[in-house]
Amino acid sequence: GMPSAPPPVLAPRRKTRQIKVGPVGVGSDSPISVQSMTTTPTTDINATLQQIAELTASGCDIVRVACPSADDAAALPIIAKKSQIPVIADIHFQPKYVFAAIEAGCAAVRVNPGNIRKFDDQVKEIAQAAKDHGTSIRIGVNAGSLEPGLLKKYGKATPEALVESAVWEASLFEEHGFHDFKISVKHNDPVVMVAAYEMLAEKGDWPLHLGVTEAGPAFQGTIKSATAFGALLSKGIGDTIRVSLSAPPVEEVKVGNQILQSLNLRPRKLEIVSCPSCGRAQVDVYTLAEQVTSGLEGMEVPLRVAVMGCVVNGPGEAREADLGVASGNGKGQIFVKGQVIKTVPEHEIVETLIEEAMRIAEEMESD
Ligand code: SF4
Repeated sequence: GMPSAPPPVLAPRRKTRQIKVGPVGVGSDSPISVQSMTTTPTTDINATLQQIAELTASGCDIVRVACPSADDAAALPIIAKKSQIPVIADIHFQPKYVFAAIEAGCAAVRVNPGNIRKFDDQVKEIAQAAKDHGTSIRIGVNAGSLEPGLLKKYGKATPEALVESAVWEASLFEEHGFHDFKISVKHNDPVVMVAAYEMLAEKGDWPLHLGVTEAGPAFQGTIKSATAFGALLSKGIGDTIRVSLSAPPVEEVKVGNQILQSLNLRPRKLEIVSCPSCGRAQVDVYTLAEQVTSGLEGMEVPLRVAVMGCVVNGPGEAREADLGVASGNGKGQIFVKGQVIKTVPEHEIVETLIEEAMRIAEEMESD
């Protein structure tokens, strides 16, 4: 078919320097990547690799693993080698594990300036080791672990305090000629977080890793992350994202992907355009939408499927979609590219939609 124009976005990306996390580029020349973090003990190598495989399958681009002990550090070489996606070691408190993670072949290391007290003295050695191994760094500032001096100066973790911590640490790396780092300034309050990233974006061309920290359980965390990331991404700010949920990490990846897809920052895949239902509905729209969604989960092609409770907006929405149903009188009119191809009894709507979706997907894939 005709090559189609790229879908519109709300703003051009903010221009940043470009870094690499293993083979994945992070910066304005690369697509925005989605990250998550394993929840298994890093010492349990098999369980960790299993979870990384699940994350990879769900569309995760980069994975972070915690490294709180020498045993965890000892597990890193195998994990880094066998993971299908680049591994970032997450280090707090102990600079020696930064060196261990770099030597283990991790793609990147996350350091928290607030939690590594003796860290500043060792930036030179860390920068050298990272340079020697082609490892990048994330300077990960977190509201919950801000340096005591900054807490005292600002009273609490204000955007200014978070940014001052990050900029100070960035200047140390840069003094030693090291530029392959990205920065995060996370806060659990989306308003503070957005203000911090906006301020940081003005102060340098560093690639930025977005995150609302401790965002909460799935529902609240999804909304906090979506609103905060949406505010920043709609201004072009943000180069890699991590949604933090008190839920399995695969859920974080699904949410992250959906945020990017919603803003046309990642190609859309399956999209269910279903109506909220109302007093006119002649079918149980919730169940229908849920069954269609689960029947089509994992589809790799961009397919818009309209599920409409009645014929008021049904034909209109179905025309815009690749596939759709408008229900009425115990039947479903099945639309393909705006044409009614058949009318089926209500109990056959789901299977018919799934059949047609598979057929369209095959056609798209063979195109
Ligand atoms: Fe109501 Fe019909 Fe619109 Fe669904 S499509 S919200 S049932 S009017």
